[in-house]
Amino acid sequence: MGKKKSKLNAKLLQITVVPLILTGIVILLSTYITFSRTMEKEVQRGLSSLAITTLHAYDRLYPGDYALVERNGEFAFFKGLYNLTDDDNYLQEIKRDADIDITFFYGDMRALTTLKPMDGQKMIGTFAHPRVVEDVFKGQKAMFYRRVLVGTQNYFAYYSPVYNGDGTCIGMIFAGKPSDVVQKEIWKAMAPTIGVVLVMTALSCMICSNFTKELVMIISRIRKFLYEISQGNMKAELDGRILQRKDELGEMGRFTAHVQRSLREMIERDMLTKLYNRRIGELKMRQVYEDAKVEGGEFCIAIADIDFFKLFNDTYGHDCGDLVLKEVAAVLANAMIGKGFAVRWGGEEFLLVFEHMRLEQAVEHLQNLKEKILSYEMEYNEEILRVTMTYGIVQADCGQVIEASVKAADELLYYGKTHGRDQIVSTLTQS
Ligand code: GH3
Ligand code: MG
Ligand code: MG
Repeated sequence: MGKKKSKLNAKLLQITVVPLILTGIVILLSTYITFSRTMEKEVQRGLSSLAITTLHAYDRLYPGDYALVERNGEFAFFKGLYNLTDDDNYLQEIKRDADIDITFFYGDMRALTTLKPMDGQKMIGTFAHPRVVEDVFKGQKAMFYRRVLVGTQNYFAYYSPVYNGDGTCIGMIFAGKPSDVVQKEIWKAMAPTIGVVLVMTALSCMICSNFTKELVMIISRIRKFLYEISQGNMKAELDGRILQRKDELGEMGRFTAHVQRSLREMIERDMLTKLYNRRIGELKMRQVYEDAKVEGGEFCIAIADIDFFKLFNDTYGHDCGDLVLKEVAAVLANAMIGKGFAVRWGGEEFLLVFEHMRLEQAVEHLQNLKEKILSYEMEYNEEILRVTMTYGIVQADCGQVIEASVKAADELLYYGKTHGRDQIVSTLTQS
């Protein structure tokens, strides 16, 4: 039974949680791609506008052409008459404010830069990556690189050709940030979104798995209940919380409980009179007998038989006989409430068990019952019908088998039948 339960659980989890996790992964991936593209574009825009602004600013601040002059083995980068190497404050301010490195290349060589010496090696005088030289300097095309090696570090960089007044390309300008810094910024910007997606996915998975667990638990309880019924356990009970549910599962539970009740009635009750049938009546009587034997209690057994019942059948038809049986049974069942129970023992014969009672008390109750039967009127085809019954009653003898007491009651009934009917015959009246 457990195996089936886990199978259903696994299947349900498979069709709920797995798609949720996959959806979470897809959302995370697409978020990452969209975010990094947008952020990269943003950084690219910043780098290119900074590089272009720097070129314009230099043109305005220092009119004239770029030139590289070597003096005593040291390079000095000039624009017009200004020695930019001596005064690179403008570039340093950019570096400080925007945290972006700027480099001027003369040809393919670094002539002026905010890049700090890397591995103890000064950056001025070092060369651009051959690919950059090919693309930007020789190809004379502005380019972005997601990862370009500058010294020993990868940079996210923008390169643009630099021209002198006559239009000749003298070198390049570089504006860049270390790739890992850009990457870190992207992750930082994405963190809240990633967090929300992860929490939402985890929450959805939890809700799904809890719901699945509850669903499987309810189904397995209904299944167990059905199993008990199939094994003939008509007293099995279904969890009250399932019966109270307002949804389809609650309905399933209620229908199953209803099936149990109907089955129980079919098995235990006589279909016409709704009294206990003989089989169940015998079982119940035996139980009372066993209990009384153990506890030393007392109880009484009566057999009641409708007088001249055949006449109803013969005079008014079988349907009338059925009606009489039903109505008499209802009076008996009602009269026995709180005193014991009534059983349809045979055709028009009933067994009455008076629990926890001595004979005197049981006879008293039986006399009341007899009065009720006598005064009871039934209507059939506009005719008023009445019945009388004959009764044999004994106090059960727990020292003998139960059948002996039933036989004794039957014998008293027979005596009544042969001595005028419509009477109660007990060992009290006999002795
Ligand atoms: P007595 O006073 O001696 O008990 O006479 P009686 O006519 O009541 O008894 P008898 O045994 O002669 O007849 C009982 C009849 O009850 C015979 C049978 O056809 C009828 N009977 C048994 N079961 C049913 C039933 O379920 N419905 C109807 N309508 N008749 C039934
Ligand atoms: Mg009879
Ligand atoms: Mg009879």
